[in-house]
Amino acid sequence: MKCLKCNEKAVLEIKRHKAAFCKTHYIEHIQNQVAKTIKKFKLFPPKAKLILAISGGKDSLALWDILLDLGYNVDGLYIDLGIDDYSTNSRHKSEKFSEKKQSNLYIISLKEIYDIGLNNISKHTSRKFCSLCGMIKRYIMNKTALLGDYYAVVTGHNLDDEATSLLGNLLGWQVGYLKRQEPNMPPSEGLARKVKPLCRLSEREMAGYCVLKNIDYIIEECPMAKGASSITYKEALNHLEAKSPGIKDQFYLGFLRDGQDYFRDGNSEKEEIDLYHCSLCGQPTTSQDKCNFCKQMVRVNLDPLKVNENIKDKLIHKHWLTIIFTYLILFGYC
Ligand code: SF4
Ligand code: ZN
Ligand code: ZN
Repeated sequence: MKCLKCNEKAVLEIKRHKAAFCKTHYIEHIQNQVAKTIKKFKLFPPKAKLILAISGGKDSLALWDILLDLGYNVDGLYIDLGIDDYSTNSRHKSEKFSEKKQSNLYIISLKEIYDIGLNNISKHTSRKFCSLCGMIKRYIMNKTALLGDYYAVVTGHNLDDEATSLLGNLLGWQVGYLKRQEPNMPPSEGLARKVKPLCRLSEREMAGYCVLKNIDYIIEECPMAKGASSITYKEALNHLEAKSPGIKDQFYLGFLRDGQDYFRDGNSEKEEIDLYHCSLCGQPTTSQDKCNFCKQMVRVNLDPLKVNENIKDKLIHKHWLTIIFTYLILFGYC
């Protein structure tokens, strides 16, 4: 197999593009795909200040690597939920990567703030573990973006994740989610913009990128993912992809291009949702009292506002470090 670009021996094949690449051109191809996605979906301007959700897995670390190589100003945000060894190991990989790239990584840790992790919090609520985890992560990401004045929250959702979520939403006729499933979710009052620059690249392609760029990521899945219906949908899509390379791409990107409007047109009245402000933290919410995050924390006798204080402390700490560092450089101390 020869590289499509230079005719040297290829190291990886991308069947859906009927192409294979050598190491240099594979890395270039993946980075170009991300740059094209940013442009096509107008995700963010070149000078935007970005905050990237880091999990320690291949997608978020590869995306951090790519955005830095493309010259973007991007900080990482790792949320330590205290899920046993999984959190310890994924946090370690994230910290190692940020040191290697000399990039700023914020760590917001539930254990550091409340002395207990998600395992204990979940025992006192009726919410399913993953739903609680997702809600807390979304809340912290949003607050960090708003308090840190970031242009957007960037996530490492890849083509497989998006196609899986689309299949799940279609199977359940989740019209509200189908209307909103897009790689660029614009901001609204109290809610930061959310963008997904990897939405055109597959899981396998990202794993290949990490191997070639020597990125050390956590391979094990979160233990709580076992048995999730999303895994069954992902397997079904993988089965279809093996038979017809490119079908995932066609399914998801075809939906964005030709299908999504059918869920939006004529439904504008239903899209109207009454939003209120959380009585504790001010976050927009559909509830007339507290937002979901504050409700859950209060139920466990934890002060929800401590998370906001912790985020502010971390942001201010970094701000002062930057000022001191700039001062030292200006006066020739380093
Ligand atoms: Fe959170 Fe793990 Fe569930 Fe993912 S699988 S939502 S990380 S608990
Ligand atoms: Zn080549
Ligand atoms: Zn709240």
